[in-house]
Amino acid sequence: MRYRDVYEQGKTSQRQQIPGREDQVKNSAGGFVFEIGPFERLGRFLVLGSEGPTFYASARKLTLQNASCVRECLRQDGPRAVETIVDVSHNGRAPKNDPAIFALAMAIRYGDDATRAAAYRAVPLVCRIPTHVFNLLEDLKALGKGWSRGLRNAISNVYNKDPDTLAYHLVKYRQRAGWTHRDVLRMAHVKPESEAHNILFDWAVNGWPDIGPEPHPAKSAQMVWAYERARRAEGVSEIVKLITDYKLPWEALDSKWLREPDVWAALLPGMPLTAMIRNLGRMTHNGLLAPFSDAVDVVITKLSNGEHLRRSRVHPLTVLIAQRIYAQGYGMRGSLTWSPVPRVINALDDAFYLSFGNVTPTGKNTLLALDVSGSMGFGKISGMPITPREASAAMAMLAVRTEPKTLVLGFSHELVEIPLSRHQRLDDVVSRVSRMNFGATDCALPMLAAMDRKTPVESFVIYTDNETWFGDMHPVQALDRYQKAMNIPAKVVVVGMTATEFSIADPTRGDMLDVVGFDTAAPMVMNNFLR
Ligand code: CA
Repeated sequence: MRYRDVYEQGKTSQRQQIPGREDQVKNSAGGFVFEIGPFERLGRFLVLGSEGPTFYASARKLTLQNASCVRECLRQDGPRAVETIVDVSHNGRAPKNDPAIFALAMAIRYGDDATRAAAYRAVPLVCRIPTHVFNLLEDLKALGKGWSRGLRNAISNVYNKDPDTLAYHLVKYRQRAGWTHRDVLRMAHVKPESEAHNILFDWAVNGWPDIGPEPHPAKSAQMVWAYERARRAEGVSEIVKLITDYKLPWEALDSKWLREPDVWAALLPGMPLTAMIRNLGRMTHNGLLAPFSDAVDVVITKLSNGEHLRRSRVHPLTVLIAQRIYAQGYGMRGSLTWSPVPRVINALDDAFYLSFGNVTPTGKNTLLALDVSGSMGFGKISGMPITPREASAAMAMLAVRTEPKTLVLGFSHELVEIPLSRHQRLDDVVSRVSRMNFGATDCALPMLAAMDRKTPVESFVIYTDNETWFGDMHPVQALDRYQKAMNIPAKVVVVGMTATEFSIADPTRGDMLDVVGFDTAAPMVMNNFLR
């Protein structure tokens, strides 16, 4: 045994703590890493969720851990926790709103007076559609929180929104999670702020059994009138007219009408982007979207409008999954099949990048290092059908498209070449990476490999679940060695792809940064840091 090998300066097995770094904790794979703070962890939970298990933790365990992290944030600084929830939810940074709603429910249930007041003010900002409200009420019920005056006021504010929007929401989102508008209006004792609200509440609570062929005299009630007429309609032409004249959404229609291409042709011009993206397969199946059809042009025009994508809070992960499903030609539940129109697949490719907003290049020599180890191929991001490994490849493509100088490497316990170019289509990249499956994890490899090959890297961007354990040197130590050997003050960004508390980034260093994968704000944060 050589003593110097056991206690070599700046080289510690990942299965051991770095001497003097008591702040390192053991990750689920048995390696030592750093722990992120509760607010950083809250950020990961809000964006990545915990509906899918990771390789190491069940969804249930992950949810319990994240819930206790939310409580810790509420204990340390409740109003800041609410602010974080609003920021992620309202700015569309997360693919799903459910973690934000759950965290908000926790703030209402467990927060102090100031936190609860902030949480009630946040309700209309986080719960923007009735589905969100229903979920919030169901979460509160599960947390054992009854009705209070503050909650009643918050819900009243939500229902006393602009009457046109309210009418649209009432017909579009009629029930969810065992709740109806009737239940909510009654339990929250919502008082109408105007006659227009009064008419709509009356419909929601009592229904309108007798409606005539004449549109309702109150303009803002005509959407509801049209919904009632559509329920009684007997032919496609009547439905098409109601859609065209009153902008009925597809959710307001009986499913028998949704088999008709004419109905979708009428719906398409006014269809919100998310609805359109989710129904591309159906519209192709029923023949509306076909090579050279006008409807394809409508779809492509909408998908190439970056401003519109962002205003509609279309999340890149939604686009990515839609592209993958559309390109495969059959739906998740199996029964629906279609022949995908290639121009639509390409437009979804562009929409993915556009939905991140404008990302300015850093111009740095950037090494994108993808953890392709076994654990990365397990589980789902935010409960959606995509693994952390696939999602990381898509995020790396964003950098490949933005940065003029990039190099992409895969690593597990060894290096893997992943030749990504800006000309590849996302669904190809994702399916290529999904077939990769390599054993153990050593997050120090990207730095060591670059040192070995004398590659002058200014930015290392590592996409990982932070479950590193295999290497005989910690990633921070590898960075030190790289910086010294190459005489380059290289920086490391760690893109966390699972909602755990672990990171390979040393929180005490100014040259390492931890960000959340698929947070739409992440590219800008990384960019500022690297520049
Ligand atoms: Ca792993």
